[in-house]
Amino acid sequence: MCGIFAYAGGKDAVSVLVDGLSSLEYRGYDSAGVFLPKSGAVKTVGAVDNLKKKLSQQPLEGTSGIAHLRWATHGEPTEINAHPHHDNNKEVWVVHNGIIENYKELREALKKHGCNFVSDTDTEVIAHLISYNLAKLNDFEKAVTKSLNELKGTYGLAVSWKKEPEKIIGARMGAPVVLGLGDGENFIASDTTPILRHTKNVIYLHDGEVAVITPSSHNIYNLNHDIINKQAEVIEWSAEQAQKSGYEHFMLKEIMEGPEVVRNTLRGRLIVDSGLAKLGGLESVKEKLKEIERIIIVGCGTAFYAGLIGEYMLEEYAGIPVEVEVGSEFRYRKPIINDKTILLAVSQSGETADTLEAIREAKRKGALTLGIVNTVGSTIARETDAGIYNHAGPEIGVASTKAFISQITALALFTLFLGRQRQMSLVTGKRIAEELLALPQKMEKVLSQKEAIKKIAEKYAGHKDFLYIGRKYNYPIAYEGALKLKEVSYAHAEGYGAGEMKHGPLAMIDENFPTMAISPQDSVYEKMASNIQEIKARKGPVIAIATEGDEEIKQLAQDVIYIPKALEMLTPVLTIIPLQLFAYYFAKARGCSIDRPRNLAKSVTVE
Ligand code: GLU
Repeated sequence: MCGIFAYAGGKDAVSVLVDGLSSLEYRGYDSAGVFLPKSGAVKTVGAVDNLKKKLSQQPLEGTSGIAHLRWATHGEPTEINAHPHHDNNKEVWVVHNGIIENYKELREALKKHGCNFVSDTDTEVIAHLISYNLAKLNDFEKAVTKSLNELKGTYGLAVSWKKEPEKIIGARMGAPVVLGLGDGENFIASDTTPILRHTKNVIYLHDGEVAVITPSSHNIYNLNHDIINKQAEVIEWSAEQAQKSGYEHFMLKEIMEGPEVVRNTLRGRLIVDSGLAKLGGLESVKEKLKEIERIIIVGCGTAFYAGLIGEYMLEEYAGIPVEVEVGSEFRYRKPIINDKTILLAVSQSGETADTLEAIREAKRKGALTLGIVNTVGSTIARETDAGIYNHAGPEIGVASTKAFISQITALALFTLFLGRQRQMSLVTGKRIAEELLALPQKMEKVLSQKEAIKKIAEKYAGHKDFLYIGRKYNYPIAYEGALKLKEVSYAHAEGYGAGEMKHGPLAMIDENFPTMAISPQDSVYEKMASNIQEIKARKGPVIAIATEGDEEIKQLAQDVIYIPKALEMLTPVLTIIPLQLFAYYFAKARGCSIDRPRNLAKSVTVE
């Protein structure tokens, strides 16, 4: 995720573009840049303010151009890696949101044709490829279309060519692109936020569509360069609503993004027929991983709970002993570490202070350090020996939702990777790969029940205490579900392994103490059903998360939310969704500050 913005009109393009970028900052940024075909490019690391400062020293002139806010996926957030990227002659310039999966192959082929690459990004191949095709076809539009047909992966992009300075070409495949239609000016952007201050008339591009804008015209084509007729829509959202895609809060928007996040985390990383995970970030330590005898997963808060799920996956499918520790405790122990130990750090921000200290300590003791991190170029990403990026896009809501789902997905990929290096059969590998690919659709099915979940949350909004229980893969989900409720609604919620009920928590149960029972039909279903019986016998209300088709559970629970059937190790990706939605609607019914809960910060960079 990142922001692209392009302008063709009659005004000073720099002010329009920089203004637009500021309104896109919520999409995440680590660097920014603009290109105006009439005068050149300026790029900086950091936020739009840095870009503004640099532009005041190096002003650019012109009435058209392209701009970008980067949220790195390939290559660290440096000035060289900042967009726009260009070809050898600095004539073709590109801004891009997404991931080009076949960039390595294209890069090698283009190098043979004399292209000099200056950045580490996947994006740069697009500029060189267009330039290469342009030299052959001598037609900007056709060269772009031909190049797009050669790309694999996702893109929302805008291209500018010095020789036709008034024309900008935009295209979409898996990453959003919107056209804004003004009077004597047109726009291309990642979403409507930067456009709305200029015009309310927009056209949303679909995948495989290409838009060509000039100040006075716009045309839309498919990838065969056939023209497509599309009507403009009038948007009545405010810029603030647009940032949240019309949702009231970032938390809800991010929960709804779950399926897309899983697709992005998996993109280009599964070879289904061979039942393998292809993880470029682990390539450099691949051989070493074969000798690993023990894994210690470290995380804080939600990331710790993702780690607990990872423990079950890795032990069951990769056969490696795993322990999971919160970052803040790890340092007080005397962990037994040697060079056959992995310290795997899980952190959305990549800056979590306690987790970082754990990495440093483990490194001193000779462990191989790995990261599952969402923010490219963050401290944890830099200090670990290798790792897996989440590619979940920036998360704005303080309570983590989509990053958690992405962390579980990344842990499943890691399990498949290590498992197939060891004893896991081809059949099992294939099964996991297929089940992973099927997840987004199943998630959509769970999300489609959001209105029903809202009603349940409203029904319980008067309660002060909640218990969350689960077993095996859904034991950590009990913790994470309770944490979500605590974070955003300040209600008292406790997560427990259901087997622990008799050892204490059952004493709390009465008709005013509801329990959220995470009980999909898996290998521990019968045991969960017994726990629910015990609660029912004490008159405790039960909300069950169950598998579609489980009618019996209705006898035991007051309310039931169904999830589709899935491979047991992947059920947490589905069971967490109703709990995230429940916490959200529960907090909303109580009028809480959902995106910024009291006393909490998004990235905890202090101990
Ligand atoms: N993959 C591109 C990069 O790392 C684009 C990232 C983005 O969407 O900002 O530069």
